Amino acid sequence: MKNRQPVIGVVPLWDEYRNSIWMIPGYMDGIIKAGGLPVILPFTDDENVFNQAAALCDGFLLTGGQDVAPELYGEAKRYDNIITCKTRDRFETLLLDRAIRLDVPVLGICRGLQFMNVSLGGTLYQDIPAETDSTLMHRQNPPYENPVHEVIIEQDTPLAYLLNKERLAVNSCHHQGIKNLSSVLKCMARATDGLIEAVYMPNKKFIWAVQWHPELSYKTDDSSSKIFDIFVTYANLSKLNIISGGKAYGSV
Ligand code: MN
Repeated sequence: MKNRQPVIGVVPLWDEYRNSIWMIPGYMDGIIKAGGLPVILPFTDDENVFNQAAALCDGFLLTGGQDVAPELYGEAKRYDNIITCKTRDRFETLLLDRAIRLDVPVLGICRGLQFMNVSLGGTLYQDIPAETDSTLMHRQNPPYENPVHEVIIEQDTPLAYLLNKERLAVNSCHHQGIKNLSSVLKCMARATDGLIEAVYMPNKKFIWAVQWHPELSYKTDDSSSKIFDIFVTYANLSKLNIISGGKAYGSV
């Protein structure tokens, strides 16, 4: 189907207690509003099934969720509030490796940003309150669409070109964060306490991740919907195979 919408493979959320996958509607609806066709991917260890499912997609959304296993960045778990998910760690390793190898657009959100950093050689604060002296509220209470802290957007980054802003008020629902940034990622925005809250991978079409939650704020916040818009736009360009080297947008 030539005129189909760009298909975005969405990593499902995993409920350990119910042994079940689930989804927050905003991830799907945010993509639909931006003109994409979201599909929930199957968790599978079967390489053949995985490759076929991934090949149907023009972009991938790495959703929020459990903490990345500290073993993946060479550390032991230090706190009881760290909840990990082997199913997702395993699946997202396959997915991100493939996406980067084939240069398929990826948007990471919250855990998605943290996983991307770890997968590419970076490390995390295992618990921001325990390991930093930050007093910012990174783990807010409802309503989750409301911004609770600001990020400062770095100049000459794709996010700065997209939003044309220096500061952005964001929601925040995380207790971990990037400690050492992967050498292949670049920072696009930091919270006012210095924590990295948005990254991208230069020399790729679109490998982006944000620490905040546009899926919970896109209905009321223009900047959140712009992030879904640019992601789906790139997925569409990728589908049409008419971009190369990240040159289609901005100068980065
Ligand atoms: Mn935050």
